[in-house]
Amino acid sequence: MKRVHGPAFRAAQLDLAKCPVCRGRAVIKGVFHELACVQCSASGWVTADTGEALPLEVLVTQLSIRLQAAEQQIEQLKRPVPMFGPDAQYNENNRRGPGATNFTGD
Ligand SMILES: [Zn+2]
Repeated sequence: MKRVHGPAFRAAQLDLAKCPVCRGRAVIKGVFHELACVQCSASGWVTADTGEALPLEVLVTQLSIRLQAAEQQIEQLKRPVPMFGPDAQYNENNRRGPGATNFTGD
């Protein structure tokens, strides 16, 4: 089996910045009601490099990546003590790291 590096599609996370026009709100206050922000395709996000809107098919994936990450963070915050996973163990070790050992004293 050969590992294929697809040149066409990459799910790598791009750097996004909050849209400067709508300040990340995706809508702009109109006279009578709120209008979809044109600058960011009503997403609230633009490319960090250029400040331009991403193509919609790219934007959807980027938002999905961020949403998944955010949901993971929420799940982790809900659990006071992570019980499994290499990350959980790493964090646990960190908490009992140099700061804690200082208290032992010789
Ligand atoms: Zn905008």
